[in-house]
Amino acid sequence: AEKLDLISKCIRTFYDFPTKGIVFKDICPILKDPKALAAVTDLFEEHVRRRYPQVDLIVGIDARGFLFGPLLAQRLGVGFVPVRKKGKFPGPTLSVAYSLEYGTAEAEMQEDAVSAGEKVLIIDDLLATGGTLYAACELIKQQKAEVLGCLVVIELKSLNGSEKLPSTPVFSLIQY
Ligand code: IMP
Repeated sequence: AEKLDLISKCIRTFYDFPTKGIVFKDICPILKDPKALAAVTDLFEEHVRRRYPQVDLIVGIDARGFLFGPLLAQRLGVGFVPVRKKGKFPGPTLSVAYSLEYGTAEAEMQEDAVSAGEKVLIIDDLLATGGTLYAACELIKQQKAEVLGCLVVIELKSLNGSEKLPSTPVFSLIQY
């Protein structure tokens, strides 16, 4: 509870960003506070060790999943794989198109990044409508790997994003 307090205090709200009507949660102050950032990693690590000791790989989402994912992967002693926006990766890629809270996008992964049968946890900063995590899950399934679950710092409950991921448990540290 102390750790969650520390984390919540480092989340800022901006109205009408990036477009009018969107309430944007900003996690940058977490990164700036070493205790808050360690608290995020601690809580994710505890959850994964308890629930998913079999995890092979952490898959992080462009861009803020890259901030939390590698820290967690290092703690767990497993690898990290990035999912990026279209056009960023060299070499053969897989892609999935999806819609998000503000616009549309395409998620890509390097074809050799995840192997069949690997057990994967997907991490991002925030779950809104669930489109992004859904696309990442689809990419993992295209590789014939298994998504154990998703991890996010923040879940915007009112957008019902977890309903878009019915077969995938979502663990969030902070809910709004
Ligand atoms: P979704 O696909 O609608 O669930 O949107 C989640 C994706 O959009 C994540 O990759 C987030 O980083 C980003 N996102 C959406 N809303 C916010 C927000 O309020 N703060 C920070 N990121 C957001």
